[in-house]
Amino acid sequence: MIKSIVIIGAGLAGATAARALRAQGYQGRIHLVGEELHAAYDRPCLSKGALTGTIAEPPMILDADWYVSADIDLYTGTRVISIDGDNRQVHFEFGEILNYDRLLLATGANARRLAITGSDLAGIFTLRSRNDSQVLKQSLGLGRSLVIIGGGLIGCEVATTAIKAGVNVTILEAGDELLLRVLGRRTGSWCRNELERSGVRIELNTQVSHFEGEGHVKAVVCADGRRIEADTVLVSIGSEPADELARSAGILCARGVVVDATGASSCPGVFAAGDVAAWPVESGPPRSLETYLNSVMQAETVATAMLGTATPAVQVSTSWTEIAGHRIQMIGNIEGPGEIVLRGSFDNGQPLVLFRVFDGRVEAATAINTPKDFSIATRMLANRTPVSTEELQDVSHNLRSLLKPEVMTLV
Ligand SMILES: Cc1cc2nc3c(=O)[nH]c(=O)nc-3n(C[C@H](O)[C@H](O)[C@H](O)COP(=O)(O)OP(=O)(O)OC[C@H]3O[C@@H](n4cnc5c(N)ncnc54)[C@H](O)[C@@H]3O)c2cc1C
Repeated sequence: MIKSIVIIGAGLAGATAARALRAQGYQGRIHLVGEELHAAYDRPCLSKGALTGTIAEPPMILDADWYVSADIDLYTGTRVISIDGDNRQVHFEFGEILNYDRLLLATGANARRLAITGSDLAGIFTLRSRNDSQVLKQSLGLGRSLVIIGGGLIGCEVATTAIKAGVNVTILEAGDELLLRVLGRRTGSWCRNELERSGVRIELNTQVSHFEGEGHVKAVVCADGRRIEADTVLVSIGSEPADELARSAGILCARGVVVDATGASSCPGVFAAGDVAAWPVESGPPRSLETYLNSVMQAETVATAMLGTATPAVQVSTSWTEIAGHRIQMIGNIEGPGEIVLRGSFDNGQPLVLFRVFDGRVEAATAINTPKDFSIATRMLANRTPVSTEELQDVSHNLRSLLKPEVMTLV
């Protein structure tokens, strides 16, 4: 009988798993241990509303009262330093030991840092936590200059926010386009144009050599010798799954804790969910998806599996972003095999959807400013709805009508 479940990481996946365990009727102890001072909060707003100030405080994932009413042993400001898989114990930083029947690793990810000369100067930030967002926000005043290293989602979101605040923003991207990994070349190129139109300066194919400054950063020096003045630098070059606890415990890791489609790791009784988990995906090797919705889905799947009723859930990456005033939603890998079908045009400012169609089925979609169509595209993908390129392209043709009748009621 399962009497004690320990969850390491009191972020989105940890809190969601705790809630799902109680919802499924589990009545034993749940120890939810997080090193941050706050219980789980919304991280996506850290590069958006919390940075602009439209959101005063990041919303909490669960009300403070819930942890009490659900009888959760919540430890904040508490770091776990090791796992003993043989004796089913976890060790806290200050000596406490907890026994577990099931253990969930929900430790998230850490922002990747640059190990180059000057990296320790003041004014150089990464963005992962609520504290990071608050400190960065204080540096983004009117007329100041911000250099963002890395043109991925977080870099482009912060550029969107900072330019609105009157900051001079430059993005330095090592690749030949922004947002390639998550949005593909067409949407990446469109986002670059939109950001440039809003006043952001963008340098592609640019490697950073080192930082200059005395005590505080003054400039970023590129590998080709160019020097770009900066009051503030944001390093947003991706993140690394926080899997060091698992690695030290001898649990199989490969850029994240390798799990099966129920979240079970190589160590009996130990599971992983969220950004720390290298989870089976629709194609390619297991990997960390680093998205909010996938973290929630994985945490819910893991809760079921920990209680003994495994329902495998291979993941399809599902996410959203807000760049240059546009809401972009994406599902699946838009750069995979097949044909890209465009519904709408990048030129007229109207909502548009890109579908990747393979073998007569939608395999991935990116929707710009049209949540309704995104929802329909998601259903098409989930239900493997047969589609024709002509019908998808035809904006006079109602997208909803392409769904099978029994599915239409769900949208
Ligand atoms: C700035 C930003 C913007 C984002 N925007 C979007 C977006 O627009 N759309 C989207 O889909 N996704 C977005 N994401 C990603 C999304 O927030 C993450 O996928 C999600 O938060 C992952 O949840 P998690 O629980 O796995 O990790 P986290 O939320 O990071 O929680 C992990 C927790 O574990 C704690 N921890 C780590 N090690 C230990 C230890 N040894 N002991 C105790 N506690 C520990 C950490 O301190 C942390 O609190 C964004 C992320 C960031 C940082």
